[in-house]
Amino acid sequence: NYVIDHMKIVPESESRLSFNDRSYHFGDGVYEVVRIYDQTPFQLDEHWDRLFQSAKKLDMNVSFTAEELTTLTYDLIKANQVIDGALYIQVSRGATPRNHLYSREETPVVTGFTMNAPASKQEEGISAWVTDDMRWLRCDIKTVNLLGNVMAKREAADADCQEAILHREGTVTEGSSSNLFLVNNGTLYTHPATNLILNGITRQLVIQLAKHAGYSVMEEPFPKDVLDHAEEAFITSTTSEVTPITEFKGQISATMPIGPVTRHLQTLFKEAIQKEQNL
Ligand code: PMP
Repeated sequence: NYVIDHMKIVPESESRLSFNDRSYHFGDGVYEVVRIYDQTPFQLDEHWDRLFQSAKKLDMNVSFTAEELTTLTYDLIKANQVIDGALYIQVSRGATPRNHLYSREETPVVTGFTMNAPASKQEEGISAWVTDDMRWLRCDIKTVNLLGNVMAKREAADADCQEAILHREGTVTEGSSSNLFLVNNGTLYTHPATNLILNGITRQLVIQLAKHAGYSVMEEPFPKDVLDHAEEAFITSTTSEVTPITEFKGQISATMPIGPVTRHLQTLFKEAIQKEQNL
């Protein structure tokens, strides 16, 4: 099993990850998860764009290019013989003796590994736990500092739910590791891409596919009571793709069937994968 360590492909046992790594001390790092379909990474450029944006928002000094990351990605897929799975890639600000104050001279540490694709719930849908969003105010940055997300996911699992849907003082934001969409009357609703959510690569593609198919998409905040009478609801993410929600639990109690718009978008999403992989 091979990993990416300091911009090289090495056996996992030879990794040189340091105890001084700032991602270990402070969660001071950014990351991406990229889906691999049929040995090919999906929407790689979009993921690199977001990785560089996340780094920039954290005033991180980045000394490598997207092209170098792409080469590493293909080399790792080959080394680990990944057919269907995912790449995790992380950029920590650097490794220096523990100090809150960072220097702009730090050398970023790039590490990565491949993972199996998680079991899909796209056919049967999931139950979602509605709870408070207790994260910080820069959820637009994809940092490895994920405690608010981690706590919410555990709470959801303890209530037999597969995802937590978060709200900030009554305004629904997103899932603990996904974006949320509601469908009412053929219109899609989702939180706008502000500092309060991560602008998912899957979210952006689904919005584009939906508009192209003639649906209206309203990117505006909505209160959690709206979850009560949603006709359809689904989450999107790199790993869960387009997964229907059949039940809200916790602060909201509601059930809903898996609707035609969700099914249509699942089909369009599969087609988009096919199209990109055949290029
Ligand atoms: N929001 C959060 C908080 C996430 O962790 C993720 C997945 N990493 C998403 C949304 C979905 O983003 P993407 O579609 O780029 O995977």
